[in-house]
Amino acid sequence: MSEAAETTAEKPTEKQTLGFQAEVRDLLKLMIHSLYSHREIFLRELISNASDANDRLRFAAIADPTLLSDGTDLDIKIDADSKAGTITIRDSGIGMSREDAIANLGTIARSGTAEFFKSLSGDQQKDSALIGQFGVGFYSAFIVSDKVTVVTRRAGSPAESGVKWESSAEGDFTVETLNVPERGTAVTLHLKEDAKEFADGWRLRSLIRKYSDHIGFPVRMKKEGEANLDYEAVNEAKALWTLPRTEIKDEEYKQFYQHIGHDYTDPLAWSHNKVEGKREYTSLLYIPGRAPFDLWQRDAARGLKLYVRRVFIMDDAEQFLPQYLRFVKGIVDSSDLPLNVSRELLQQDPEVDAIKGGLTKRVLDMLSKLMKDDAEKYATFWKEFGAVLKEGLVQDHANKDKILPLLRFASTNDPDNKPTTTLAQYVERMKPDQERIYFIIAESLEAARSSPYIEQLKERGLEVLLMAERIDEWVMDHLDEFEGKKFKNASRGDLELGKLENEDDKKKQEEVKKETEGLTKRIKDALGERVEEVRTSARLRESPAILVLKEHDMGASMRRIMAAAGQKVPESKPALEINASHPIVKYLDSEPDEEHFKELSQLLFDQASLAEGGQISNPADYVQRLNRLLVRLAGASH
Ligand code: ADP
Ligand code: MG
Repeated sequence: MSEAAETTAEKPTEKQTLGFQAEVRDLLKLMIHSLYSHREIFLRELISNASDANDRLRFAAIADPTLLSDGTDLDIKIDADSKAGTITIRDSGIGMSREDAIANLGTIARSGTAEFFKSLSGDQQKDSALIGQFGVGFYSAFIVSDKVTVVTRRAGSPAESGVKWESSAEGDFTVETLNVPERGTAVTLHLKEDAKEFADGWRLRSLIRKYSDHIGFPVRMKKEGEANLDYEAVNEAKALWTLPRTEIKDEEYKQFYQHIGHDYTDPLAWSHNKVEGKREYTSLLYIPGRAPFDLWQRDAARGLKLYVRRVFIMDDAEQFLPQYLRFVKGIVDSSDLPLNVSRELLQQDPEVDAIKGGLTKRVLDMLSKLMKDDAEKYATFWKEFGAVLKEGLVQDHANKDKILPLLRFASTNDPDNKPTTTLAQYVERMKPDQERIYFIIAESLEAARSSPYIEQLKERGLEVLLMAERIDEWVMDHLDEFEGKKFKNASRGDLELGKLENEDDKKKQEEVKKETEGLTKRIKDALGERVEEVRTSARLRESPAILVLKEHDMGASMRRIMAAAGQKVPESKPALEINASHPIVKYLDSEPDEEHFKELSQLLFDQASLAEGGQISNPADYVQRLNRLLVRLAGASH
């Protein structure tokens, strides 16, 4: 093989036709056929990419200033030709090599394409809003174009290594190497017949102001008038966070959120602050109005946009907020960090930790204010992110007292299963002698509400908080008290009724205990090692029996989570509590036949397991026992 051939094989320069990745093909079909009512979004996506490209070059030039040797002016120019029906969006940013163009404009880099397609609702406004969030913005060019041409050159590489990429979205695209005199990328849209309206100068100007007013670079267009060749800035091009709060309109805050959050719905709240003195930084933080699709994915990108003295440094700087505030979007601009700061350095920098502490307080204060000012928005926040915020009770002990008042619970006080009760309200409604905040965790809120464990509590008119989220058990095990009142899981240990039980109650219980001593021993003998003990219950009213764990045993829902994750679940033996006044228990007491007694005890135990949402170890056995009992009962009635 000749040397020339070898070089060509490694780095082709000729025109190649390549197929799009299958996901991209599906996406293009969607762009072309389904999104025709919010077509203008293509512009904000392409400007956003141009702005990213400029940001990336400015950042790369910190380490290698020669990258800017052919010009330090970073801007975005938009040219429109209404006769030809074309629009060109040109940036002076980082540009792409041939390999970059093939990889970036032919495949979808981020995982989550499957989620994207799953998230599509058929509502065009909602669906077009998803495009930016899922990192597929470039392809929105095909909403309005028959053909898209990208001419690009990577900053720092010679003019001859320029690239032309072109596609008509029919399953493939072409790339060829050619001479490109200027660094950066120019995207030319050949507009479809019915989209030619977008090539109008005034229309473009108003769209730029609507969507891209506060990106950090000037967006320039030729002045109006046939012969004019001068460009003028169309947008504000001021980093919004550097302006004083009083000069910023709500609309501008919202627009900026949409730009950085890639979310085209309004945020619920924001907080803009400048910290001066020993340590100087500005932050602009937002609470989004809805959860992103990857909120629960461990490896999802999250965090703030980091700037140092107004220079963009990186996206997704996760070191500035704790995990449990991962839903927050925004920017932080530090005056003190070095420009060449890396992710590794961020991890070790005590300065970063101090900023993190400050920003955490800001977010918690913002939530507390939202809760007081706007109940409806707070309810939205809680629905979208409440379960994430709860993680903070375990992760961030120092701020526990700020997080606790933000919690919302469903409660027996409220017939709806809506989370509306705060801990403060619970404490206010507590009975005079009540010392504990009672709660119960089950598989669903309905199951919690009708749980046998809280029968007596309800009977006594004591309020019980109802929980059914996966993380509740883990979180509640870490909580001690709220305003001096201890939390009490109604399914474990003793109910700790304290002064709520009067002398009469206690006397009666003693009596029942004495009376049933024989029975409880008999049941314990019948069940053997399956239970720790058998005792009479202070919890029950309607149900015959339940299983009760010790105070610090791992609960049923945690066990199920661990078992599902393939982990070893620690052994713990429950106590069987029986309701002595229940007809089944009375019947059991009068059963003379030891075999029948054993079988009935076993049934009682199995049912108690089922009632706590658990599983019975041998369902077939259980069914047989139940059938034998039914046959006996049927026989008796004949
Ligand atoms: P995202 O911007 O979320 O990454 P896009 O679909 O908008 O997704 O763009 C895909 C990729 O194409 C970008 O990540 C970038 O690598 C590349 N790209 C798009 N436009 C430009 C541009 N103007 N300059 C340089 N690279 C670009
Ligand atoms: Mg983009």
